[in-house]
Amino acid sequence: MRGTILVVEDETKLRDLVRSFLEREGFAVLTTGSGAEAITLEEHAEPDLVVLDLGLPDIPGDAVAKELRTRSDVLLLMLTARASEEDRVHGLELGADDYLTKPFSPKELVLRVKALLRRGRAANEATGPASYGGGTLEIDEAKHEVRVDGKPVNLSPTEWSVLETLARWPGRVYSRYELVNSARGYEWEGYERVVDSHVKNLRRKLGGSRTGRSVIETVVGVGYRLGLERDK
Ligand code: CA
Repeated sequence: MRGTILVVEDETKLRDLVRSFLEREGFAVLTTGSGAEAITLEEHAEPDLVVLDLGLPDIPGDAVAKELRTRSDVLLLMLTARASEEDRVHGLELGADDYLTKPFSPKELVLRVKALLRRGRAANEATGPASYGGGTLEIDEAKHEVRVDGKPVNLSPTEWSVLETLARWPGRVYSRYELVNSARGYEWEGYERVVDSHVKNLRRKLGGSRTGRSVIETVVGVGYRLGLERDK
């Protein structure tokens, strides 16, 4: 068994198509067309990943995502009918781990599901200090220590939390909302500028990178990401 996937989509044809492709790959698949039922199912069946359509008849998909995110860190792959930058940012703000724009090929969906599960498992199994950019950056959760080129760097609790979040999935863009949420667990007025200033401090403390990429990269209009690959 490769894991359990909950597919939330009210279009029966599409739902059945996705189900059959996932089952062919050995996944156990639960399905529903209702947002309310999705919330209950997630709680009771504890799937490894939820494929969630934004357009649902009872509760909008974004409200379902929000509800799931308040009490679960289940992997979330969002389906959206629109492809605008705004929707993408919105999806990320809701805590989606990835998103797919309709129409999509079921094969693409299976690939995304597998990639997310791999990343999720790698994050869970990580032990000892994690190393990035060929040893440029090391994050040692157990010792609560960050090292740049082998030298320990002192970070404030908020800086630590921002860096820890960015390093969870190197290369993935995190919005300011997500960064502030993981640092404080809530949003406060003017948080965007606050996140910017923490990132500025982090950059100063972490310095440049020998690999030619910044440790923390800005993605204009979206947020920030870790510019270093995780070392094997
Ligand atoms: Ca739909």
